[in-house]
Amino acid sequence: MATAGKVIKCRAAVAWEPNAPLMMEEIEVAPPQEGEIRIKVVATGVCHTDLYHLFEGKDKRGFPTVLGHEGAGVVESVGPGVTDFKPGDKVIPLFLSQCGECKFCKCPKTNMCDCSWSSNYHDIMSDPTTRFTCRGQPILQFMGTSTFSEYTVINQIAVAKIVDDAPLDRVCLLGCGIATGYGAAVNTAGVTPGSVCAVFGLGAVGLAAVMGCKNAGASHIFAVDINEQIFEKAKIFGATDFLNPKAYNKPISEVLSEMTSGGVDFSLECVGNTEVMRTALESCIKGWGVSVLVGWTDVKDFSAKPIQLISGKTWKGSLFGGFKSKDSVPNLVCDYMTGKIKLDEFITHKMSLEQVNDAINLMKTGDCIRCILNISK
Ligand code: NAD
Ligand code: ZN
Repeated sequence: MATAGKVIKCRAAVAWEPNAPLMMEEIEVAPPQEGEIRIKVVATGVCHTDLYHLFEGKDKRGFPTVLGHEGAGVVESVGPGVTDFKPGDKVIPLFLSQCGECKFCKCPKTNMCDCSWSSNYHDIMSDPTTRFTCRGQPILQFMGTSTFSEYTVINQIAVAKIVDDAPLDRVCLLGCGIATGYGAAVNTAGVTPGSVCAVFGLGAVGLAAVMGCKNAGASHIFAVDINEQIFEKAKIFGATDFLNPKAYNKPISEVLSEMTSGGVDFSLECVGNTEVMRTALESCIKGWGVSVLVGWTDVKDFSAKPIQLISGKTWKGSLFGGFKSKDSVPNLVCDYMTGKIKLDEFITHKMSLEQVNDAINLMKTGDCIRCILNISK
């Protein structure tokens, strides 16, 4: 490639500061260093976690940055020591790495790779080391991925190689939201055949959790959201019952308890709201109910009555659906290609990188499940 070893100047949407629109800029992307891969981003989704960092996160040091962590692209060049990737390979960047060497990677119980940016720089949601500059300033790489850019540089431990015929403008969704919700149900909750489930929040993550419950054989899947417009969509993924908490004058956990003789077997919180997290736990049946936190928030602590756990419920959390990222994403791509999991049904909008602020505004309205930004051909 003519660009290998050289700085690439390209378009990117830069978030200079919190609570402000992203700005289209020309940025410089340095060549990949030891163990790194430079990727031409083809398509990316916009996820609520991008909005969280821009609008809700309480630590404001994570700027200026290039957001985006749900992308797919093609390898442009590789740095020294990279042997598993070559220019032209189709890849999905991973916000959660899998180094394969740390004690967490070696343990089958978890996907919490110790080499991920999140191990040390959770507060600013990026590693302070970056290959991006703009107007003479370093620009952070949000979640180590920064897919709202035509090019990005990522460590090989955070890149998954996928099959050549995968449609990048759809499988990009497996870089975050869909893998997250789906895995939270099938891996973290461990939904069992015949069980009764409730999913709180029906954005892409929640709808993917519904799909996971369905594929795991749940007999009833309660879909809970304050936006009733989404219920038709939830049916497509397998939801059987629909509840709007605002339509009741008692807590939705009580409603669920009455409808299920004591509570659901599995509940998943896919909103990122500590009150909903508590409600999801309270909606579980005593003795064996399992509630999983998927929604992302660092703004508030949660609380619950100890009896909720003393009575035999389990409360757990899930990052990236519990999937070991590098191993699992290529398999999920194949699951999509063979029809085992849906992706197309999540996509409600398609836009260009220049329209990223419109996509962000759409995410806030609830009319959008996933908007795909086409970054380059
Ligand atoms: P989204 O904004 O598209 O969807 C959220 C849904 O929750 C919306 O349909 C909204 O109407 C609904 N909602 C809001 N308040 C509610 C309430 N009180 N009760 C019931 N429903 C309510 O978001 P998304 O992209 O699907 O992401 C969902 C959450 O998952 C976010 O918090 C995101 O940051 C988080 N996330 C976590 C991980 C992880 O690895 N744990 C990965 C990706 C995203
Ligand atoms: Zn995400």
